[in-house]
Amino acid sequence: LVVLRSVNKHFGALHVLQDIDLTIDRGEVVVVIGPSGSGKSTLCRTINRLETIDEGAITIDGKPLPQEGKALARLRADVGMVFQSFNLFAHKTVLENVMLGQIKVRRVDKKKAEEKARALLDRVGVGTQAEKYPAQLSGGQQQRVAIARALAMDPKVMLFDEPTSALDPEMINEVLEVMQQLARDGMTMIVVTHEMGFARSAANRVVFMADGRIVEEAAPDQFFSNPRSDRAKDFLSKIL
Ligand code: ATP
Ligand code: MG
Repeated sequence: LVVLRSVNKHFGALHVLQDIDLTIDRGEVVVVIGPSGSGKSTLCRTINRLETIDEGAITIDGKPLPQEGKALARLRADVGMVFQSFNLFAHKTVLENVMLGQIKVRRVDKKKAEEKARALLDRVGVGTQAEKYPAQLSGGQQQRVAIARALAMDPKVMLFDEPTSALDPEMINEVLEVMQQLARDGMTMIVVTHEMGFARSAANRVVFMADGRIVEEAAPDQFFSNPRSDRAKDFLSKIL
């Protein structure tokens, strides 16, 4: 579904992505881990074209990423993204946040958009918060709204970039549970996270990055019990 071929990117002198080859099949859940600065966020951001690449190719469903205009807006809808910070529209209610993209990008009529928004808010467990503004919600609730907002676009793939790292500990699980359920429902997901419990139970594959390269790719059991590279061994010894 998502294919990266020999992707290279520089930030000035920094070679932030180096010869990245990665294929994510439909329904697959790939967890990306690695030290700070290894290029995980940049990798995610290239897939919905928040960052351009210098060399190589990225395709979704066999089609190259569009460059601009309406096609780019549709790409961002097809590739749902949830960040560390919740990025909800502060001056819109929770319900409006989940309706807007459907109306503007997917051209859904208002009534249908509202029905779908309410159903999704129920699904992520914040149905009763629909009329509130984001600032009136807890971090965990806001992050679940952000997930519902991305899902409202019927994305082909969901990208999560450390979705729980800004949350108070007691709110992490409620967000991970929503993500677990999404994985069980067959969503294609790329998840940057340090939550190794999630990686073990939800991931089909772990991708370990260091210094802009994919150093190792393996099934979670294999990766956690028997990492092959010294970089991965060193990283795991620090976080586990
Ligand atoms: P973390 O775990 O801290 O989130 P990461 O693996 O997500 O790290 P990236 O955010 O992808 O790492 O950053 C990779 C490198 O690229 C870092 O050295 C960072 O400073 C640099 N970088 C990221 N964005 C930019 C930018 N817009 N301009 C210049 N350098 C950047
Ligand atoms: Mg990052």
